[in-house]
Amino acid sequence: MDVSHLIDDLNDKQRAAVSAPRQDMLVLASAGSGKTRVLVHRIAWLMQVEGISSHSILAVTFTNKAAREMRGRIESLMQTSLHGMWMGTFHGIAHRLLRRHFEECKLPQTFQILDSDDQYRLIRRVLKSLNLDEKHYQPKHVQWYINSNKDEGLRPQHIETYGDAQQAKMRDIYAAYQQTCDRSGLVDFAELLLRAYELWANNPEILAHYRRRFRAILVDEFQDTNNIQYAWLRLLQCPDNNTMIVGDDDQSIYGWRGANVENISHFLRDYPGAETIRLEQNYRSTGKILQAANAVIDNNAGRLGKELWTDGSDGEAISLYSAFNELDEARFIVAQISDWRDKGGALTDTAILYRNNAQSRVLEEALLTQAIPYRMYGGTRFFERQEIKDALGYLRMIAQPMDDAAFERVVNTPSRGIGDRTLEQIRELARHHDKSMWHTAMQMISEKRLSGRAANALSSFIQLVEELQDACRELTLDNQAKVAINQSGLRAMYQAEKGEKAQSRIDNLDELVTACKSFEMPEDAEEMTPLTAFLAHASLEAGETQADTDQDAVQMMTIHTAKGLEFPLVFLAGVEEGMFPSQQTNEEPGRLEEERRLCYVGMTRAMEKLVISHAESRRLYGQEKFHRPSRFIREIPAECVQEVRLRTTVSRPVHTGRSMQSATSHLAFESTGFKLGQRVLHQKFGEGVVISYEGSGELAKVQINFDDVGSKWLMVAYAKLQAL
Ligand code: ATP
Ligand code: MG
Repeated sequence: MDVSHLIDDLNDKQRAAVSAPRQDMLVLASAGSGKTRVLVHRIAWLMQVEGISSHSILAVTFTNKAAREMRGRIESLMQTSLHGMWMGTFHGIAHRLLRRHFEECKLPQTFQILDSDDQYRLIRRVLKSLNLDEKHYQPKHVQWYINSNKDEGLRPQHIETYGDAQQAKMRDIYAAYQQTCDRSGLVDFAELLLRAYELWANNPEILAHYRRRFRAILVDEFQDTNNIQYAWLRLLQCPDNNTMIVGDDDQSIYGWRGANVENISHFLRDYPGAETIRLEQNYRSTGKILQAANAVIDNNAGRLGKELWTDGSDGEAISLYSAFNELDEARFIVAQISDWRDKGGALTDTAILYRNNAQSRVLEEALLTQAIPYRMYGGTRFFERQEIKDALGYLRMIAQPMDDAAFERVVNTPSRGIGDRTLEQIRELARHHDKSMWHTAMQMISEKRLSGRAANALSSFIQLVEELQDACRELTLDNQAKVAINQSGLRAMYQAEKGEKAQSRIDNLDELVTACKSFEMPEDAEEMTPLTAFLAHASLEAGETQADTDQDAVQMMTIHTAKGLEFPLVFLAGVEEGMFPSQQTNEEPGRLEEERRLCYVGMTRAMEKLVISHAESRRLYGQEKFHRPSRFIREIPAECVQEVRLRTTVSRPVHTGRSMQSATSHLAFESTGFKLGQRVLHQKFGEGVVISYEGSGELAKVQINFDDVGSKWLMVAYAKLQAL
């Protein structure tokens, strides 16, 4: 059998990993060294050479998109289509297990997934029902508490509170929240993982089945697994199967969400025969980019240590642009992209990466003005928009009316005159009897416990849901969505609102119908109805699915989302102290190092050209802030960087296409000898940036935001400022 195509285009170390005998393995290597490529080739090798069927392989990726790409790459290597392979994210795979074994998991067959926004709302309602003040029990904190306990495998009864009343209260909230989820058939993201773990831990015969079934287990991006995921993987470990993990400790960026990079060392401890293979050649980035990224990450302590070299060319220096403000930064990036396109570059080959989603708006606007198409990943995701959530709420009521989260969402949307007091009564009784709100509402009506008006309003809602269920029974998915949107009154409600926003909401509702129409049942849909499968997809893939992926468009996403990806031209925007590293960095130990790893991940996405920018002033969340360039910029060796100078100068006063700020900057210069945004040095106060000015000649004053002492007004004539 000729298997050369599986190993030909690999280096020696990669080849050793791909063609190793069946054993546990750790591939530990830096960004762009071909870890994912090794994983793909290994799967093909196992099937073709070791004769393992696709049915017996479990492959875990970090995103659904990565899973789809991996499947495509294996299929093209093997020239056949894959069937029965379990390939997806931990959450996706856990979901699949829960669907299959819903009874053992003590879930209703129609259980629904609660995304993090739904979870947050549910927590707020639980707090309310327990009469707890959100000021003392911040819902975000409660959410974090619940999820991190689940990530550690802890149910409320496992939590030790050591007689601390506050801790005991948190535990009670967790218990009350869980009770609500259980009676409503709702499973949040952390619960997916915990239940999948418990399914195996508590059912030896089911575990034995999967141990026999999965002979090869492969995990990409292992550095970002959390404890429950690792515990779950370990349950599978037995003499008949092998586990291969690939990862890079320098790219662990989800510590804030419970990921535990120490799982790499745990793996070496718990899989004693495991061979470690290190890949040292980088194939992705030019020499300069690599040198810069390595220099930055070198500032972190306690790394596992890896060598990385490339025999590619040095390439161009990294461009560094110091923007006056965020608008200037956006315009600069867009101008660079236009240039790239004019020189024949594809837009899909360019990515704008940023630390926070909130940074995207200004960038989007700049792209829109220049009519450059872009595609956003993350942000306010399609499935998270208000009107889409409303429509999904009705669809969820159709699928499973005991879903309290959906019930609360749509019972009075559009308004049917069901008041807060009525809802409060239903909630109260539902909790008391541990029944869903849906059942409780019906019971209250039949027992005539409600006032006439409230009873009528509620009956009409119940009748509506029952009618929708009837109407949908024989319909295709897209027609179900249409019926839900129209008969529920949602469309009419948004039509009655005026303005562009309302129109875009209606467009989105139509888009939902289109999404339903083009929805393909996934291979792992098992016993799900199309509606249930679609609802699960909406929760699990919410941030990833993007319509119209064929269009040539600039890719925009956070650095977190860019993990594992690569692009010829990458912009890293907003690389400023206080933004990146973020403000919280000083508050939590270890946070700075995680931010630095994030910077490393961002830089190593670039193949040919990396452009880093920072803005001296930035308006974000409604406030103007002045930021120094990030320390990460200073950590890049000077020989790797070239500063881009587009600044207004006296001989070329107003750069074409630049804004009012440039013009004011010019005026400022004429009056004071300093431009707005200019960095200056003061003997006593140190370095700062000119942010405002007043007067001229002898009376000229400038306001300077000093890096160390904050903002000060100074008389130019006396201050002895030195331009930098
Ligand atoms: P990351 O840590 O960012 O996930 P990675 O280690 O998974 O990176 P890959 O994405 O697998 O790296 O590979 C990086 C790039 O290098 C890809 O474009 C890949 O096709 C290419 N590559 C990997 N190995 C080789 C090789 N032996 N010859 C040529 N190109 C290679
Ligand atoms: Mg990878």
